[in-house]
Formats: sequence, structure tokens, C-alpha cells
Amino acid sequence: MSDIRIPIYDPRPEIEALWDEIHAAIDRVLRSGRFILGPEVEAFEREVAEYLGVKYAIGVNSGTDALVIALRALGIGPGDQVITTPFTFFATAEAISLVGAQPVFVDIDPVTFNIDPARIPAAITPRTKAILPVHLYGHAADMDPILEIAREHGLKVLEDVAQAFGGAYKGRKLGSLGDAAAFSFFPTKNLGGFGDGGLIATNDPQVADLARMLRAHGARRKYYNEMLGYNSRLDALQAAVLRVKLKHVDEWNRRRREVAARYQKALGKLEGVILPREMSYAYHVYHQYTVRILHGRREEVRRRLTEAGIGTMVYYPVPLHRLPVYAWPEGSLLHAERAAREVLSLPMGGKLAIISGR
Ligand SMILES: *Cc1c(COP(=O)(O)O)cnc(C)c1O
Repeated sequence: MSDIRIPIYDPRPEIEALWDEIHAAIDRVLRSGRFILGPEVEAFEREVAEYLGVKYAIGVNSGTDALVIALRALGIGPGDQVITTPFTFFATAEAISLVGAQPVFVDIDPVTFNIDPARIPAAITPRTKAILPVHLYGHAADMDPILEIAREHGLKVLEDVAQAFGGAYKGRKLGSLGDAAAFSFFPTKNLGGFGDGGLIATNDPQVADLARMLRAHGARRKYYNEMLGYNSRLDALQAAVLRVKLKHVDEWNRRRREVAARYQKALGKLEGVILPREMSYAYHVYHQYTVRILHGRREEVRRRLTEAGIGTMVYYPVPLHRLPVYAWPEGSLLHAERAAREVLSLPMGGKLAIISGR
């Protein structure tokens, strides 16, 4: 295998651009001696809440924990059903299962790869408690019809914004539209830390209060535990680094959009390739630039790009309903299954050099 000269994502250029500022932030934390939660995390939570336009932000250990804790804070538990997309990272459905509820998969819109709101009503049962849309690849799910269906049926809406920090729906920041939202700061996300990290956003004071308790062993006050929770707190070092990067995430998302426009221009006329589209309601932040390769030629295209030194990834090769833990029959969600066979993500990043050319 030849060397990959252009990886699918490289976190280093963004770090290098802010080297001194990041070192100063780390230095500040080391000197403070406070490594878990504390003033650095509180400042980050305030800044993210302000950025998103929400009342509360609660830093946790990972995006997965943000989903689990948000679900529990919304009152979802054993016996409940949560409607979600099968075309996402495993953690979305895993979180639903981990709180004892059951994910009910609804097929995707083949254009946006996100849950198709028109198919949601048919999946609602007396046990349905929530809808969990994912803003996949940085593109908003179609939130208005989702919120309307939720209102009609008395359901909660939890947004999975792990891939869409800074993205928007009709001018409103993703993560500010539902009853709660879960973010991830995994190093490859649009806002990435130097390890695991996550955050819950909400406007509901009760959800915020419960989420704060759940992340710290179910206690408001240390040693006065009121319920079973988790050890899921955000580290001060992560918060300090993320505070520096937060100031640049809009600029990096703009660069991602420039790279996407460049791809669009360069690849627009290729036969057998379908390029991503940005719906009029969305501000796409291109966590991934994901094309479809038709006619069963994806693996061939992948191999040839690898030979040319260009990294690619398939997000995701198996839709969640086809994984052994869920094992829905083949053919039950055709759009998701087809997407899993055709998608290919190309190099993307907030500091990816735009190669000049035609
Ligand atoms: C990354 C991701 C998660 C999980 O986040 P972690 O921080 O890795 O736990 C959840 N949902 C989606 C859609 C993701 O891409």
C-alpha cells in the first residue's frame, strides 16, 4: 500500500495554527491544579451556551455519555421506544439501548442521508417517547416536521449534533432546536479536543439539573447521592483547549465549505458519482464530504484513491439495523442499506489546503 499523503482528516494543522494559545491554556490548567470540572469547564459551558443560544450547557466525558445522560434526563428508560435513524455512528442507537429503551429505526432521505420525517408517523406506537435525529456529516436533519410530529404526539426531541458543531437549520444553531442536544468533542469532530469529551445543551432547567447530577454519580452535593449516575465529567484540560478552538470553529467551518465547493466544481461532471447537496434550510458544516459511488464501483474507486495517496473512509458500511445487536431483516430499510453500499468520504478539514488547479 502506498503512503497516504492526504489523510481523510488531520487534526494537526488546526493545532499548529494555535500552538502558543493552546500551550498557554494547558499551562494555566497545570498551574491551577484543578483537573476535573472547575472554573475552566464552567467557562467553556458558558461560552458554548452563548454560542448556541441555549440556556444551559453541561460538559461530560464523551458524545456517547452526552446521549445516555440526555436520554435519562429526558425521562427515557426501560420499556420506552425512541425513533432514530439507522444511518449513523453506533453510539446513537447504543445510547438508547443502554438506558433500557428500544431504538426504532426509520429509513433515511436518500438526498440528505438524514432521517426522513415523512416516515416517522408510521413508526409511532403507544411506547414511543422520543425522536432522536442525527445531523449526519454536518448537514441538518429537517427539524420543523420532526418538531411538529413530536408536538402532536407529546414526544421529546434529542438532537445528536456530534457531527455538526456550528451547523444551522433555518438560521438557528443545531443543538438549540430540540428538548436537548448531545455534542461530541472526539478529536476528529468539527470542534475536537485532545481526547474524549462531550456536552449536553438544553433550555430546560430540569433537564439541565438532572444532567448535572447524572454526570457526577447522581449527586448535587458530593457524598449526598440521590440516584445512580455516572462518572462522566469533562476534564479541565479538554475544556481549556476547546475554549481556544471554539473561537476558530466558524472560520474552520467556512474553510470546510470552501473545500466542499472546490470538490463540487472538480467532481461535478463525473458520471456515476453523486455529490452531496445542501438543502435550502441547512448551513452545512461538512464534517464529512461524502459522495455516492454508483454501479458497485466504490471499492475500486477507494483502492485507486489509496494508490494515489488520498485517504477515504466509509461512514458507515453497515446500517445499525443490520448489526448483530439489532438484526433487522435485510431489505427492511432500503435507503439506508443502499447508502451503506455507496457512500465514500473524501479528505476534509478546517485547515485542509485547497489545492490549486483547474
Ligand atoms: C462521534 C459520534 C458520537 C459519539 O461521540 P463520542 O464522543 O465518540 O462518544 C455519537 N453520534 C454520532 C453521530 C457521532 O458521530
